[in-house]
Amino acid sequence: MTDLSSNTSSFSSICIEHCKGRCCDPWWGIIAYQVRKEGGLTRLNNFKEEILRGIRDRERRIVERYVTSETPPRPLFKSPEKYSMIAENIKISGTTIFINLRAMFAFRCLFLSEDKVCTIHPSVIGGSDIRPEHCGYLGSLDAKPNEKGYCRIIHTAAGTITPPSPPYKGGAKGGDETSKINAAIDMERSISEKYYNEGYTSAEGAAEALVENIKGYVERNAPGLISDVPKETTKSPGRNDPCYCGSGKKIKKCHG
Ligand code: SF4
Ligand code: SF4
Repeated sequence: MTDLSSNTSSFSSICIEHCKGRCCDPWWGIIAYQVRKEGGLTRLNNFKEEILRGIRDRERRIVERYVTSETPPRPLFKSPEKYSMIAENIKISGTTIFINLRAMFAFRCLFLSEDKVCTIHPSVIGGSDIRPEHCGYLGSLDAKPNEKGYCRIIHTAAGTITPPSPPYKGGAKGGDETSKINAAIDMERSISEKYYNEGYTSAEGAAEALVENIKGYVERNAPGLISDVPKETTKSPGRNDPCYCGSGKKIKKCHG
């Protein structure tokens, strides 16, 4: 395995000793947005298509945005391994349904090695950082939200311990600090595993499940707003069907 411990400037020993690259394995791309459905929950197939286009659009945006800072740039991701769509809040106003969505995409970074090392991290490639902005791998206690090196785990743990003076070099050697950091890592791991295991391997599966969830909510809370177009309303009667005149004979033997 690559010896990351030789780097002394930019990584946190929490990452190496405790977490082992949780932020990149998988790498979660998360986008929150709102969808608005006018006129009640009709034409579900069209609605599913709309949701699917929204998922594809956001997936594409992430893939396009996360590239190395080289010329030419290299992408970090192909398609997500898992799609997890969550309706965080649904509101109904008249016949309009507002849905706040959280789209979660579990990507496998093309630069993450089998042994959970970022193969383009500066400590690995010798100091030149070509990772995209805000790559979280190997976080720092000093980094603030939206800065490179920011990590929820480290900051969650830091909020529950007395943090050492920055720059953070000591690692998590103390018994109490260690258990709090491990608790934060375990929480992150279990949340990540839950969404990964419950996620769908295709965007179509995620869109379908999401629409079923929304339909269930509307059925429970505003059943009058569901009226899908009935199937086969224009089917013509066959020659052997009962005659429309009410004679009781088959059409072919009556008005056929
Ligand atoms: S940055 Fe955070 S999530 Fe990533 S390896 Fe370090 S502690 Fe784990
Ligand atoms: S480039 Fe490195 S830090 Fe960024 S997601 Fe991939 S493995 Fe993680």
